[in-house]
Amino acid sequence: MSAYLDHAATTPMRPEAVEAMLPFLTGRFGNPSGGHARGRDARRALDDARDQMAEALGCAPGEVVFTSGGTEADNQAVHGVLAAQAGAGRTVAVASAIEHHAVLLPVERAGGRLVAVDRRGVVDLDALAGALGPDVAVVSVMLANNESGVVQPLAEVAEVVRERAPGAVLHTDAVQAFLWLDVATLAAPAALVSVSAHKFGGPQGVGALVVRDGTPVEPLLIGGGQERERRSGTQNVAGVVGMAAAARAVLDDRKALVERVTALRDRLADTVLRDVPGVAESGVTGVAPDRSHKVAGSCHLLVEEVESEALLFLLDDAGICASAASSCASGAMDPSHVLAAMGVSRGLAGGSLRLTLGWPSTGADVDAVLAVLPGAVERLRRLDR
Ligand code: PLP
Repeated sequence: MSAYLDHAATTPMRPEAVEAMLPFLTGRFGNPSGGHARGRDARRALDDARDQMAEALGCAPGEVVFTSGGTEADNQAVHGVLAAQAGAGRTVAVASAIEHHAVLLPVERAGGRLVAVDRRGVVDLDALAGALGPDVAVVSVMLANNESGVVQPLAEVAEVVRERAPGAVLHTDAVQAFLWLDVATLAAPAALVSVSAHKFGGPQGVGALVVRDGTPVEPLLIGGGQERERRSGTQNVAGVVGMAAAARAVLDDRKALVERVTALRDRLADTVLRDVPGVAESGVTGVAPDRSHKVAGSCHLLVEEVESEALLFLLDDAGICASAASSCASGAMDPSHVLAAMGVSRGLAGGSLRLTLGWPSTGADVDAVLAVLPGAVERLRRLDR
């Protein structure tokens, strides 16, 4: 028995994406900047993909900038706006304390301000207001968190930013949101929006940054002037085509997917909470768990008296792929900055277990985890005594 429950780290490609990419990996090629037939063909494919991404993201095609993934899009949002706004005296970057490191590190390195979240993992709007002022260039608040799955109230965030720092650019990292949420609508208040293909059934190493017209943002990469001077470098045509096909597939069945996966996730979480003593769910309180503020695929557990690393080892040994926090943090086993921001004690955070479902997940995956997890936890606790 084996099961993959780490879809927030990366998820398999959808067949639609593979099919759309194949011609570009097997003979159909060209540089979209080229002036001949092959170049024009690649350009057409790129333009079609741009149209599809624009529809999926709720923007004009000319506002889509293709990138090498979520990290680059996030870095450009922070560094690019800081560079563009410095002349206007706006020099400060502000972000929620639970951002992915692709936002957090650029903000920290620029000496920026971090905004607290509450115990549910939702950004504190009063704290946000307190961090804002006329010196702020960019504000970054993610749409859905990669560890806890918690969705942020972006419309309210935008209102606070408009009021307290009208010259600031609002960026949202929608990397973990796109598979589950109507990003075209929910991210509409943000001038910059990051997505990454490999989180929703496209290939790894490709993503996009929505740059709404008139937004002050400098490029990170300069050179040939592709993407209307906003991101130089020959585009990854096959990757972009695959991303667009995956995005279209998501739009076609997002509603049904969310319904199906919510039921699987609830069964998984409810059963673990019922059958394994000393387990809590991050950001969820109350006797009847309310997970309405989390994306459908997220089951984030805090297991008392257990070390994540040891638990993940036993799960892996039994064929279950899971992680502790975000995929990058789980390698290094750093304490999670997201859980710390949510007020979870270091001890409890040390037993975090992130089980994330995705578009191919089935009831068999849930059964597989449920067959292994209670025994693994019990074994570790016994060893510890
Ligand atoms: N932002 C969030 C919220 C993520 O979860 C990730 C990936 O884990 C990234 C950004 C980085 O995206 P990529 O892997 O495409 O660089």
